[in-house]
Amino acid sequence: MKKLKGFAGKILHIDLNNLTHHILPTEDYYEWGGGHGFGAKLFWDLCEDIEAVTDGRDPRNVITIAGSPFSGTNVPSAGGRCEVTNMSVGLIPRNRFTRSNFGGHFSSMMKHAGWDAVTVTGKAPYPVYIDVRNDHVMIREASHLWGKDTHETQQIIQEDVASVEVTSGWSGQLDGNSFGRTTQKASVLTVGQAGENQSALGCLIHGAGNAAGQGGSGAVFGSKNLKAISFIGTGAVEIADPEALIKARFITRDFYAADVDKSAAFAYPSLGGKPEAVTFSTMPTGHRVSSCHGCVNGCKQRNAIGYGNEVTCQTSLWYLGAVRSYKFGGDAKLSLSNRGLELTEDSLYAGDLANKLGINTYPIMGLIPWLQKMHAKGELGSGKEIHSELPYELLGTREFAEQFCQAIATGTDIGAHFIDGIVPGIESLGHGADVDNGTLHYPYYGMPEHGYDPRAELEWGYATLMTDRDMNDHGLNWIYWTVNLAKLEGINFPIPAETLVTRFVEKMAPYVQPNEVSAMDYASHNMYSEVLARQVQWINHYGRFWKNSALMCDFRWPDCVNTHREDLRGATGNDEVGEQVWWNAVTGEGISYVDGIERGRRIFNLDNAIWVLQGRHRDDAKFADYIYDQKMTHNKLPTYLWPATNEAGEWDYREMLGRQHSREGVEEWKSHYYRAEGWDIATGWPTRSLLEGMGMKDVADRLEQVGKLGSET
Ligand code: SF4
Repeated sequence: MKKLKGFAGKILHIDLNNLTHHILPTEDYYEWGGGHGFGAKLFWDLCEDIEAVTDGRDPRNVITIAGSPFSGTNVPSAGGRCEVTNMSVGLIPRNRFTRSNFGGHFSSMMKHAGWDAVTVTGKAPYPVYIDVRNDHVMIREASHLWGKDTHETQQIIQEDVASVEVTSGWSGQLDGNSFGRTTQKASVLTVGQAGENQSALGCLIHGAGNAAGQGGSGAVFGSKNLKAISFIGTGAVEIADPEALIKARFITRDFYAADVDKSAAFAYPSLGGKPEAVTFSTMPTGHRVSSCHGCVNGCKQRNAIGYGNEVTCQTSLWYLGAVRSYKFGGDAKLSLSNRGLELTEDSLYAGDLANKLGINTYPIMGLIPWLQKMHAKGELGSGKEIHSELPYELLGTREFAEQFCQAIATGTDIGAHFIDGIVPGIESLGHGADVDNGTLHYPYYGMPEHGYDPRAELEWGYATLMTDRDMNDHGLNWIYWTVNLAKLEGINFPIPAETLVTRFVEKMAPYVQPNEVSAMDYASHNMYSEVLARQVQWINHYGRFWKNSALMCDFRWPDCVNTHREDLRGATGNDEVGEQVWWNAVTGEGISYVDGIERGRRIFNLDNAIWVLQGRHRDDAKFADYIYDQKMTHNKLPTYLWPATNEAGEWDYREMLGRQHSREGVEEWKSHYYRAEGWDIATGWPTRSLLEGMGMKDVADRLEQVGKLGSET
């Protein structure tokens, strides 16, 4: 493969067993794209015994933090994303190789220091942090950082890095041969107390609130005695065609992007955003938003109240949502104030608390309502069946949030039960049935949950069944928010359902043809169709390359429907500002939009091979019992409208509440999916011909050795 621009050219391998580092040439990994592709291939190459590593806290686990050619560039909503891959801690029903992702400017600084990724193996004999200043790599003792929260840790490291002062306002950094200068602070990724205590609920934090939460990567850092990784660089990214890059950026700004000065218009779903009438308001104090490196649509809050910064979306709402018990039929559903979700100062304060302690807020948001229920039943409290000294009567206050988060992060009081995750904790307390019956919203394999119910939002549920965790792909999910918020506010959603689905399917090459609109038909009569399997295939393969490897932000890509354009056509795949335009401008490679998706197919198949080695089988791919046994009666919002046809074939946004899955139907859909992927439909295992056709003979050989190659017939 020719040398590509955009890449720094080096991957940093840290071996904590021996406290040494090595350089791997990025060129050997080009074909995997960056981000997740790098992480999967490095896991495959460096994990000593994939089958034997059953918990992410095993020192043989390989954790990779990877950027892409876009890192450090101004490709819209791609310059600052970063992918984390590792064997997980706390997935259900068992751990698997998994992924998470965060934004900010860590990957861009890593690139400016001359590195495309950092991969860490082994376990240090004592707490350490990794301090990289251009080419100069140090594995340093971290006992002075252990016990510090994520904000303090970053500040201490940044002050230390900046102490090499050469001119007022500048810091000088060694790069091996010379002395570079920068006004930037070091970019630091760190764990808080939750990660140090190896909690499955521990996440990685960078900046105020950029978090890699799902999959227990905080516990992985903790288990390796690794407190933090810091990069500072004085270099730049070499771009193959800067003129093409800037031209595409201007076209995007003028014809596809929202105006960042309209800070209340958090244009969540795509480059262009949704109709003005139904925008979120996430700026309670009216301050201008901030962004990850290079993003055209900042989605991150900055608040004059001094906390709640960068906690947009989940973390800003976790406490509010938990307290209101919205998922469990509590009497207060997530309320709307004016045109936006209501944010209270206390919920933003709780967001900061979780970020400082390094806690993944998804699982704890589901845990609090369960605790609330146990407390109301008299089973939880001081001296009760489930003993706890927390002040449950103060739920909703800062005081409760502080004590609760502290208990979770340190594994004390009620937190002692949840070190291995929420489901194992609930099971150990003798309430495992609450998982199957839906009291806890854990609908599928992995580490739920976003709360998008697979009985309504079919692709979210199906794609999760085919992967390792709650899929967290918002490509289609903005339909839920925009259509249903419009309904809630009495606004006629301005895009007819048939137009909307047409715009979506024309982007689903090569799996769905532009006239196959039934790929977006969420009607009950289409729930188990073959075309729906191909739609999910597109999501998985598109996502694995363009989003998880090239690192185009999930909040912005794909851009299928863009309300800034009269024809409503989004940027995805188009000749001026489509994904491939950016890739080619940065790398100089010359690939097509579909070439990228094909690379995603290969990466996804390597993932699947790893999961198969780890024990994955068709029988694992099933929803929790309540998804089949109970009708969906409520969700975050009072309606769950999706585009669907009626029996006469007429399109509209139709209500999905009130339905359930059938076991036979889901099995039928799985067979469609396995057939479409070329996997053995009895096991879900890949075949030799499929793997060899993608240049992965070594993967086929490895699977054959352990008797896990799919049948060709
Ligand atoms: S949309 Fe938000 S999360 Fe995505 S790149 Fe932009 S600022 Fe970062």
